[in-house]
Amino acid sequence: MTLKGKTAIISGATRGIGKAIALELARQGAKISFNYLKSVNEALDLEKEIAALGSCAKAFQSDIKDFGAVADWVNKSKETFGGLDIVINNAGIIRDKALAMMAPEDWLEVINTNLIGTINLSRAAIMTLLKQKSGQIVNISSVTGVVGMPRQTNYAASKAGIIGFTKALAKEVAAYGIRVNAVAPGFIETDMVGQLKDDLRAKLNAKIPLGRFGKPEEVAKAVQFLISERAGYITGQVIVMDGGLSIS
Ligand code: NAP
Repeated sequence: MTLKGKTAIISGATRGIGKAIALELARQGAKISFNYLKSVNEALDLEKEIAALGSCAKAFQSDIKDFGAVADWVNKSKETFGGLDIVINNAGIIRDKALAMMAPEDWLEVINTNLIGTINLSRAAIMTLLKQKSGQIVNISSVTGVVGMPRQTNYAASKAGIIGFTKALAKEVAAYGIRVNAVAPGFIETDMVGQLKDDLRAKLNAKIPLGRFGKPEEVAKAVQFLISERAGYITGQVIVMDGGLSIS
């Protein structure tokens, strides 16, 4: 259990990739503080699931777009668990549409959740990490932020923004023993891609050299690697995990 005694704060862990990360880090012994927007029952279930693993977790309902609510969540987490070591910026949404048809609310909701949400949680947590001169931050970007995808201008901009944010913050805090990295997944089997019709899914699989979508647990393993000592000389980097989609 490599993370025994550490506390991780994870945005959007009630489902999908965030949940897999929470479970992976809990298995490594970390105490987990996570937030969510709507999924109250899933949040309570995850608290129980992590307790059954022998670790502890606390769910907080707070909107990642709201800096005040996020700062309050971070403060309550520190009171609950007595510290903060690992920050995972995972909460994210899509509102896919051609730019010509995109309403301002679709644009703003995606940027505010994905990019501003990442800045909100990082800003609320960073003083604690700076003062203790240690910490790990991992941001969940997307392959779309690296190569771009049609109908995802809002999402691609938010995820490319996260990559710039990761690199700038990594340089800013490296002298304090804090590493900041990003993971850029391709198509991962979660609710976010669950609506895709079978024929589109088959077409996408044909474009992915490994011939399949990824699993949330595979993303969680990459996150676990980045926060581990094995990645002790890695900062400001983006691991693209997309089954080869971006090189095909
Ligand atoms: P998901 O299954 O839709 O889960 C999204 C999570 O974020 C949920 O826990 C949700 O909480 C939370 N959330 C959404 N808006 C929030 C808000 N305003 N405040 C707080 N929490 C909020 O998504 P996913 O597929 O696991 O994606 C996780 C991350 O990976 C996202 O950043 C996404 O962009 C990125 N990603 C996903 C894929 C993919 O193919 N799935 C690919 C590349 C990158 P509720 O349950 O309460 O709604």
